[in-house]
Amino acid sequence: MKHLKIKFNLENSFDNQESNKIERYLGDLRHIFLDKLKVDYILKKDDPLIYEVYQVEVPPEPGQIMFGISIVYPGKVGNEYFMTKGHYHKNPNAAEVYLCLKGMGYLIMESSSGKVNSIYMQPGSFGYVPPQWAHRTVNISEEPFVCFYSVPADAGHDYEELEKTGFKITVKEIEGIIKVVPLEYISEKS
Ligand code: ZN
Repeated sequence: MKHLKIKFNLENSFDNQESNKIERYLGDLRHIFLDKLKVDYILKKDDPLIYEVYQVEVPPEPGQIMFGISIVYPGKVGNEYFMTKGHYHKNPNAAEVYLCLKGMGYLIMESSSGKVNSIYMQPGSFGYVPPQWAHRTVNISEEPFVCFYSVPADAGHDYEELEKTGFKITVKEIEGIIKVVPLEYISEKS
């Protein structure tokens, strides 16, 4: 493993030769949004890019540190804001840090025992995801929500657990106000 100096260009599409780019479109994320009819309606016309991740690959070994940039684009499905898929780490001892560089949003977290938490993020906000907490980022602004993240390289991703249950909270615009709400609240209101 050589020494790396990486420069992410925050103004120019984050073009970076040294990192792997992962793109997720609405068609890949149908299951994460509550309003499936609205998802289908959008997909009839378009398949918008919801988020991108530029990940600097390092060997997935204990002691190595993986890092990158995640960008959630602005937009909503119905009243629910664009967000990442969310995941647990396969390695239950792996924590993660997020530092917001641009835009505004939330870091949403949920523990395997069902506790939930959310951190409001704006440029300079730093969020810590403890081990054993699932996490996702949500863009509530009208510009890309950009975060630097760093995690042990052997953390791994576990998406399956959340695909079964989903998160218990989400971020919606309700009567003109941005709210982090439990799903029970939404079903009562709708
Ligand atoms: Zn993670």
